[in-house]
Amino acid sequence: MNPRPLMFFGTTNLDLCFNVERLPTPGESLMGKLNRNPGGKGANQAVAAARLGLKPLFYTRLGGDEAGQSLLQSLREAGVRAEAITICAGEVSGSALVLVGDDGSNMIVIDPGANLNVMPAMVESAAAFIAPGALVVAEMGLPISALNRLFEMKSEKGFELIFNPAPVRPGLSPAAWRQVDYVTPNQTEAFELTGVEVTDFDSAAVAASKLLHLGPKAALITLGAQGAFYADAAHSFALRAFPVKVVDTTAAGDAFNGAFAASLAQGLPLRDSVRRALAVAALCVTRRGAQASMPLAAEVDEFLK
Ligand code: ATP
Repeated sequence: MNPRPLMFFGTTNLDLCFNVERLPTPGESLMGKLNRNPGGKGANQAVAAARLGLKPLFYTRLGGDEAGQSLLQSLREAGVRAEAITICAGEVSGSALVLVGDDGSNMIVIDPGANLNVMPAMVESAAAFIAPGALVVAEMGLPISALNRLFEMKSEKGFELIFNPAPVRPGLSPAAWRQVDYVTPNQTEAFELTGVEVTDFDSAAVAASKLLHLGPKAALITLGAQGAFYADAAHSFALRAFPVKVVDTTAAGDAFNGAFAASLAQGLPLRDSVRRALAVAALCVTRRGAQASMPLAAEVDEFLK
């Protein structure tokens, strides 16, 4: 069976990744090793899905600089379809400073660059690429006005919508929230959206019910090394994370979201889709980098045997 069409909307950044022994404290200087890697939440999620064998479309906005060219090339090489991507002369591509400690913890500062200038009309043009019955994934790094417009087009275009509210920002309209099929925050984002501190599956259940009141049909909260909690109006379940040796947690959430979307697009049942997303994210945290740490479908199948 052919997978459903899948399209990601989100940010692309050049990640300047410093590997450091430990994260610095304010005022401290540390030595580190620099690697330049393609990143950005939307791009990572699209690459995660492409490495699982999907041919996802991606809408993002790149600068007309050298970084933009290399980011576009790496997306294409990863198997992401780039027809909807725009390159903007005179603008700089997004970039991020990423510090990764030896224990796998990270700190990130982002300059959104061209990502910041995504206007509602641009999203409207990009939406022409959304095929009927598609699954659309959006993250919150794009301007809120653009997200409001994208979500508004849901009924007209007839797509299903996964919304990864990262990083949380105000301004998404109540009508837009009601268009969301799956909202997928991590613990911090769930707290920011609901005021409920998510420390375990019980508190995740409380946060999930508050998330559903915002309008989404289902909430899927990731809890790092603990796993993930799912709830909709009819039922809920929790799945534990796969125990692995953590090397670098960068893009764990993106791996999870890309894989969850890919699995749903491939027609896997809901619970199996969450389980596969947990497996993909577990493999991701055992490797360094963002897109470079996304596993291939065969590796995931082997891991789940
Ligand atoms: P990040 O910001 O690092 O990309 P996140 O904060 O968005 O990640 P998390 O909830 O920390 O998202 O992690 C997402 C998923 O990654 C978890 O649900 C889990 O499946 C997997 N994961 C994260 N950390 C671990 C770990 N230590 N062991 C196994 N799986 C993990």
